[in-house]
Amino acid sequence: GGEDEIAKMADALRTFRDTISETQAELIQAAKLAALGQLTAGISHEINQPLTAIRHLARNGGVLIEKGRLDDARENIKKIDVLLEKTNRITASLRDLARKPKHDIRPTDLVAVLDDVWTLLERRVQEHSIEVEAQIDPPCRHVMAGKVRLEQVVLNVISNAIDAMQGSPVRRLIVSAHQDGEWVQLRIRDTGAGMDEDHLSKVFDPFFTTKDVGEGLGLGLSVSYNIIKDFGGILRAQSKIGDGSTFWIKLKMAQ
Ligand code: ADP
Repeated sequence: GGEDEIAKMADALRTFRDTISETQAELIQAAKLAALGQLTAGISHEINQPLTAIRHLARNGGVLIEKGRLDDARENIKKIDVLLEKTNRITASLRDLARKPKHDIRPTDLVAVLDDVWTLLERRVQEHSIEVEAQIDPPCRHVMAGKVRLEQVVLNVISNAIDAMQGSPVRRLIVSAHQDGEWVQLRIRDTGAGMDEDHLSKVFDPFFTTKDVGEGLGLGLSVSYNIIKDFGGILRAQSKIGDGSTFWIKLKMAQ
């Protein structure tokens, strides 16, 4: 508050701090707007396609009924139902994205999580003749996480691994967990197509996908990243073209 050198310096620092935080606030706002724009474009793109098909099927269904072609009309209604289910899945994943963290973090059995995920993926793994190896070191069996949300993450990472291995001559999925001090490193490795640096740097971005329309929304890994962060852990990835990818889920070991 005085007139001396120190006061002048403090004053300069205050101005500097205020300018910085203003600039930062502007940057955050710009980033939010950009994300919102991306989000809206992504949603309308994904939802418009089934909606257009539904409109067509409904109009056509009316004509079929007038002509007395009830079986064909019934087929249209079935297709409408499938398409509505699809739009429902899209909005459900958006809801997951926006959902506030739940208070579900407690000691969770990794083996039980992998078993549940396996039940859901077994058919696809067999269909694509994928060899699976799993090794959970006994001290790593329990981690601090929410079971349902951790299952969602593991399911997503393994599903992506299966997708990435479709065209590979060697199709091997290796899941392992080992202790790293107070942490557990769950490692999911595939022998799929792999990714270059540019591709890898985008995988956790919302709406980034290389899959066809209707195959992927590009939300899986961004949601997964936030879930693991919410557990106090880290989700990261390594990859090399032609050599496959490895995803690491680092979680606090449960006592
Ligand atoms: P989606 O599966 O809907 O595309 P994700 O967020 O789960 O969304 O994944 C984003 C993208 O990351 C995928 O489209 C794919 O290009 C890439 N990716 C994720 N996992 C792997 C993997 N194991 N191998 C190669 N590419 C992957």
